Amino acid sequence: MGSLSHRQSDQLRTDLSRRESRLRDEIREEMLRAGDEYYSDIAGGVLDTGDAAQATLLADLDQALPDFLIRELREIEGAIRRMGDGTYGICLQCGDDIDFPRLSACPTAVRCLDCQSFHEKTHARPRTPSL
Ligand SMILES: [Zn+2]
Repeated sequence: MGSLSHRQSDQLRTDLSRRESRLRDEIREEMLRAGDEYYSDIAGGVLDTGDAAQATLLADLDQALPDFLIRELREIEGAIRRMGDGTYGICLQCGDDIDFPRLSACPTAVRCLDCQSFHEKTHARPRTPSL
């Protein structure tokens, strides 16, 4: 778990689980909203309650969720998993400890500041033409 103290990792763990539950609320709301739209759609058409319709509904709901919600949830779940296996707070790239102020600002960070800015420089907008 890097060089974090008990109190620091407790604080980050609390922060992560708070973010996770807020995110799950948002996702539930999105799914309810998407479900409502779906049901009002089929209410005016042919009603089919078979398995196929059910499968379509689930696929629709998945697509209805905004990408950023799914991405954020995966990041948070990944961070919580890393806390469990002891790799949390260790930079994915160079293996150094990620310092607490950075984790505090961004508890899902997987890279130290140096590696993150390098990563963004090399991966950001690859198709932007250089003038
Ligand atoms: Zn690093």
